[in-house]
Amino acid sequence: MAILIITLDGPAGSGKSTVARLLAKRLGLEFLDTGAMYRGLTAYCLDQGIDPVEMTDEVVELANDCPITFDWASDPPQLRIAHRDVTSRLRDPDVTGHVSDVASIPQVRRVLVEAQRRIAREHPRLVTEGRDQGSVAFPNATLKFFLDAQPKVRAKRRADQLRAAGKSADEAQILEKITRRDERDANRKDGPLICPDDAQRIDTSELALDEVVSLLEDLVRHRLEGDLADEDLGSDFIWG
Ligand code: C5P
Repeated sequence: MAILIITLDGPAGSGKSTVARLLAKRLGLEFLDTGAMYRGLTAYCLDQGIDPVEMTDEVVELANDCPITFDWASDPPQLRIAHRDVTSRLRDPDVTGHVSDVASIPQVRRVLVEAQRRIAREHPRLVTEGRDQGSVAFPNATLKFFLDAQPKVRAKRRADQLRAAGKSADEAQILEKITRRDERDANRKDGPLICPDDAQRIDTSELALDEVVSLLEDLVRHRLEGDLADEDLGSDFIWG
């Protein structure tokens, strides 16, 4: 089967997950949420009483020992850590508050990037989103995008999402947290949040969700000249 990997990186609240999921649907590809992998591992650590800042050896041990898998039969694919469904924990505030600590541990990143490449070998027609997908995990991806939006817009989107889920949301507080998380993600040594040179940067501040998805779909179809089904893109593809 022809390999087709599309990477979508960007800061918190840029809409990557939703855009990647919808884009994958429109193109008939599968979708990988790598943020969920870091969040799932963070939730699992916290639930085991492991402090991600003070107990990094234990975090690394868990990352090495606990299989991180997705149930591809569900839509979107549900994350399992050590065979446990941790979906309901992924967006909890304690997990969001600690996920960048876990994601900044180089050995953890190594394990998860390797897991992402393994997943892509098994699901070689994939839209994958995160912070380092185009830069580290799949430097030879078919197409790379970097989604961005002004911080205020991103905070508002997160707040709207929370309110839609029946939760209260303080936009100023969300903005502060998003900014702090971006800073940490952008300043770590290993797999920092960057826009790869060969990625197309798209500012979504002024665009509605559907407009972003349509824009990306057009760019992908244009690049592949409308032939998603048959083009052989895999001949010189190197994993990572
Ligand atoms: O995208 P999401 O907000 O779910 O990501 C949560 C966190 O996981 C990010 O703030 C970042 O610290 C980490 N992450 C990462 N590399 C990725 C995906 C996510 O470091 N590829």
